Amino acid sequence: TYVIAEPCIDVLDRACVEECPVDCIYEGARALYIHPDECVDCGACEPVCPVQAIFYEDDVPNQWEAFTDDNARFFTDT
Ligand code: SF4
Repeated sequence: TYVIAEPCIDVLDRACVEECPVDCIYEGARALYIHPDECVDCGACEPVCPVQAIFYEDDVPNQWEAFTDDNARFFTDT
């Protein structure tokens, strides 16, 4: 799955939402989240993010590691 990390917070540009072929990017109060079970790893969202907030799960920078779980938790808590 792809993961949306810290740069998205309070930005929510939504360019990624337009690109996602399976509509698996959802909007939270302060950031967008990718549903880990719905993402098909196409990578279309990553290059269109103006703040480079999107990473393949294996490529999430260390300082934003927690965002991988945060993306999943957004969908299990609701
Ligand atoms: Fe959607 Fe593809 Fe991005 Fe996954 S990698 S969130 S399927 S655009």
